[in-house]
Amino acid sequence: MTDRYVYDLSEGSAEMKPLLGGKGAGVAEMTRLGVPVPDGFTVTTEACVDTMTRKGEWPEGLDSQVWDGLKRLEERTGRGLGDVDKPLLVSVRSGAVISMPGMMDTILNLGISDDTVEAVAKEAGNERFAWDCYRRFIQMYGEVVEGIDAHVYEDALTALKEERGVESDTDLTADDLKGLVDTFKKLSNEQLGGNWTTDPREQLMRAVDAVFRSWLNPRAFVYRKANKIPDDLGTAVNVMQMVFGNRGDTSATGVCFTRNPATGAKELYGEFLVNAQGEDVVAGIRTPRSLAEMEEVLPEAYRDLIDTMKKMESHYRDMQDMEFTVENGKLYLLQTRNGKRTAAAALKVARDLVAEGVITKEEALMRIEPAQLDQLLHEAIDPNHTEQPVAEGLPASPGAAVGEAVFDADVAAERGAKGEKVVLIRFETTPDDIHGVIVSQGVLTAHGGMTSHAAVVARGMGKPCVAGARGIKIDAKAATLTIGDTVIHEGDMITLDGSTGEVFAAGLPLIPPQINADFEEVLSWADEIRHLGVEANADNATDAAKARELGAEGIGLCRTEHMFFGADRLPAMHEMITADTPEERQAAVDKILPMQQDDFEGIFTAMKGLPVTVRLLDPPLHEFLPNLVEQSLKVQKLEDQGADPNELDKERRLLAQVKKLHEQNPMLGTRGCRLGMLYPEIPDMQARAIIRAVLAVLKKEGETVQINIMIPLVFTPIELETHRRIVQQAIDEEFEAAGTKVDVKIGTMIELPRAALVADKIAEVADFFSFGTNDLTQTTLGISRDDAENGFLTEYLRTKVLKDNPFASIDQEGVGQLVAGAVEKGRKTNPQLNVGVCGEHGGDPDSIHFFNKTGLDYVSCSPFRVPIARFAAAQAVI
Ligand code: ADP
Ligand code: MG
Ligand code: MG
Repeated sequence: MTDRYVYDLSEGSAEMKPLLGGKGAGVAEMTRLGVPVPDGFTVTTEACVDTMTRKGEWPEGLDSQVWDGLKRLEERTGRGLGDVDKPLLVSVRSGAVISMPGMMDTILNLGISDDTVEAVAKEAGNERFAWDCYRRFIQMYGEVVEGIDAHVYEDALTALKEERGVESDTDLTADDLKGLVDTFKKLSNEQLGGNWTTDPREQLMRAVDAVFRSWLNPRAFVYRKANKIPDDLGTAVNVMQMVFGNRGDTSATGVCFTRNPATGAKELYGEFLVNAQGEDVVAGIRTPRSLAEMEEVLPEAYRDLIDTMKKMESHYRDMQDMEFTVENGKLYLLQTRNGKRTAAAALKVARDLVAEGVITKEEALMRIEPAQLDQLLHEAIDPNHTEQPVAEGLPASPGAAVGEAVFDADVAAERGAKGEKVVLIRFETTPDDIHGVIVSQGVLTAHGGMTSHAAVVARGMGKPCVAGARGIKIDAKAATLTIGDTVIHEGDMITLDGSTGEVFAAGLPLIPPQINADFEEVLSWADEIRHLGVEANADNATDAAKARELGAEGIGLCRTEHMFFGADRLPAMHEMITADTPEERQAAVDKILPMQQDDFEGIFTAMKGLPVTVRLLDPPLHEFLPNLVEQSLKVQKLEDQGADPNELDKERRLLAQVKKLHEQNPMLGTRGCRLGMLYPEIPDMQARAIIRAVLAVLKKEGETVQINIMIPLVFTPIELETHRRIVQQAIDEEFEAAGTKVDVKIGTMIELPRAALVADKIAEVADFFSFGTNDLTQTTLGISRDDAENGFLTEYLRTKVLKDNPFASIDQEGVGQLVAGAVEKGRKTNPQLNVGVCGEHGGDPDSIHFFNKTGLDYVSCSPFRVPIARFAAAQAVI
């Protein structure tokens, strides 16, 4: 038995999306609900996948099933493909499971030919219309199916318009278009060496095949990679009877959203064009009119559209993005899908739908993409600037973008990849520009509306976009943008405000993001639901305050490295490292103590009432010392100058230490607790500074933090025991001297595979574990995080040796196993053990799902990831 590859629209439904693709399932569902949709059938995604695995050859039975589907369609419509009396015209539309706007190809008007064009004209009572359809068809079919360069047709069209002295396509007469069809046919045949296909039935098969192939076009790959869509899903193909928005002034085509996709407001949002066909609106060739104007122009169709929008939104219980066409006053829907929206709109829509009683809080939370919230945590233009905008366009995707002007997607891709800040400026973006859009700060276009490709793609990626800025002249070849007298060259600074549509010929200052009431409300639902605690990594009072503002419930990782690196502290560190006796060493360390205490007081004041986990000194000792060559030169110079013997002696001793401490692999060298094992004065001093700060804040503020002291890079319980003893003794002495005490917990990082493996033994002497998954990943995979992305890791990701970057999203299979095992072992010997994670993974939604499943108590991440982690932690529970 062969697989079933073809379904009539009336046989499908929303649930069949994986098989029928998003578009196919959407039109089928609308058909089922009695919404007017042109008739047709869908070739499944499986057919595409099977064709791909057979290297382009169709699987058995596919062609006969397509013929049968066509035959049924012909019977239902009473028309025939290629029939000279009652011709059937169809569109052949791609339709992936996860929508990829504009990334793949669609062919309209298939079925029109020399034999059928007259019948089309006669039926429509409109000669011009028929020839316009025909020339559009040749153009689309030639480009998409036969791969003919768009310029071949564009140039011929432009030449004809010039010859006739007209501006717009619509000013061309029927005879003009008839001549154009001839020219197009000739050109196409030339391009293909005489192999231009004229039989509609053969064209249909080739078109279906071309849509399959469009899954593999480069821009589709780029889009999938950027949006983490698997490459093996394939696309469905929808063959649907054509309805015509270009039949005259009572016909139109358009795009609408049931709510505003930029703000989420419940208001009319959309665009349409009278006497136009599909692609005209989204391609931004003619600037469309706002939907509100349709009420006057096409009142009946307008009312039907509003009703249908309401109906579809309440059916899908989510904001819909719809495509429609009006033929002779009658409305047809051609597509519906859950609308892509900005993060701000996602929150507002979620909040409103819950308030309207349409969805539950849990459902609302599941609809928000945690990574998308990043947008709201980004910057805006400082409102105090005095710069005047040089141009204004449509506010197509909010947020501010500052960068150097770039006029070519390839240039943008190249410079953006190097980390340079660029703003991509195009007459209009096409899907082929996607690689440049991804790395740009923002996008500016001269043409196209709120639903142009540039706008849709930018919104999806959370990139600022100003579209359709009129009055700007772009010369892509010369790489200049001219607005009145202002000329912006490639490399000049430019600022876009995607929320207002303003364009500035300067780099403006930005301000930190503002979190609004929608955000707060939806986050409070997440807090009600999640089990995981969310803490932040913060090393200073400013970050600590920010973390708290963004909802962190504590500091999960306070690194103390920088407390040693300050210019006022380094000399004391040098003294300590070069000391000959413990007394000398102690004296040096004592100089650092008050400075550290001061740093801690700042953090503890900001975090009072909450837990703070302080990690004792971690980096390799040599990082505190000057570079070997520099120090050698310095000593040399002092010797040459005959410097003061004391000074010379000091520098020589330092040089000797530099030589002695030199390590080939410092990251696997004397760092973490190993330092404290060699120099117990360091943990002793740090413990005292912490306790003095805790007590000072208690005295000053009336409350203090719950303090946790964390020992890094342990692999045997002996290291932890030793540190515990040192730290505990210092703590006891400090409490005794002060005559007060507070509760202090002492625990460790689990960041070496051995530590994870002997976690049961370590847990016997630990109050808590915090997984340092950055180091644990480095040491488990044997990959240096600092070097990996310059080298083979990028290649590994490209060739899918690794699915995800293990430093961005935890390697669940490997590193995850160590984490899960250590949690289980640790809790076995110490049921009170508190377990968390610090490191980049603590802010990554996929990793958070894993940590929730593994039963961790909390995650800790950078302050700006805190809201995202709160969301993701709630989603992990639902
Ligand atoms: P995309 O995925 O790029 O949006 P579509 O398959 O939706 O591609 O086609 C683009 C446009 O072509 C649609 O928005 C619609 O206006 C027009 N179109 C597609 N099929 C038909 C049809 N059967 N009748 C009229 N217009 C159509
Ligand atoms: Mg398209
Ligand atoms: Mg579409």
